Amino acid sequence: MIELIGVKKSFGNNEVLKDITLDVAKGSVVALIGPSGSGKSTLLRSINLLTVPDRGFIRVGDHTMDFSLPYALPRDRELAAFRARTGMVFQSFNLFPHMSVEENVMEGPVTVLRQPKAQARQLARELLAKVGLAEKAEAQPDSLSGGQKQRVAIARALAMKPEVMLFDEATSALDPELVGEVLAVVRSLAAEGMTMLLVTHEMAFARDVADRVIFMRDGCVVEEGEARQVIDNPAHPATRSFLSHFH
Ligand code: ADP
Ligand code: MG
Repeated sequence: MIELIGVKKSFGNNEVLKDITLDVAKGSVVALIGPSGSGKSTLLRSINLLTVPDRGFIRVGDHTMDFSLPYALPRDRELAAFRARTGMVFQSFNLFPHMSVEENVMEGPVTVLRQPKAQARQLARELLAKVGLAEKAEAQPDSLSGGQKQRVAIARALAMKPEVMLFDEATSALDPELVGEVLAVVRSLAAEGMTMLLVTHEMAFARDVADRVIFMRDGCVVEEGEARQVIDNPAHPATRSFLSHFH
């Protein structure tokens, strides 16, 4: 469902993605782990082209982008079409503060997909129920806990009917007691067969829910494999050293 071949990205002299090749199978959950600064966010952002790679090939579903040639730089409309295939959830929830919870979820379908409001509202209600927030539809984002805000952010991403979901440290900004309710939503999406790539520091969760784990360091994929294999019995010394900080 997601395929990257030879993806490179530099910021000035800083080569942040060195030559990334990876695959995420349809319906699978892949956890991306690695130290701060290893390029995890840049990799995720490249997949929905919030960051435009310098080189390489990216495919999401049946949409491909080839950055091997300069003339392949995407136009705005292509970018928007490509981006709409992926839902992204960030560490900071980025809800619109002046809109109700339900309006936050309706915003994308109404403005981007041109859905009639009644239809978008119906979808928003279904998605809010799915993330356990049916009773908060009329609430303002400010009145919610961090865990609730993040669940709204997930519902908002799902409202665009993405083919894949990308999570960039979706629970890192939350108080520990609120992490579980967000992970439970991710877990339920996994059970429904949603294809997901998630950057996380929740190693127990990655081991439990992910099918595969990719360990990155210094802009490279150092190790990749079956989740339990990589987390319980890493092959590479760098993975072992990284994971030792979590025990
Ligand atoms: P991670 O998510 O693994 O912590 P990032 O992808 O955020 O890593 O960052 C990798 C490197 O790229 C860091 O050195 C960071 O400073 C740099 N970087 C990320 N985004 C930008 C940007 N927009 N401009 C310049 N440097 C950036
Ligand atoms: Mg990051």
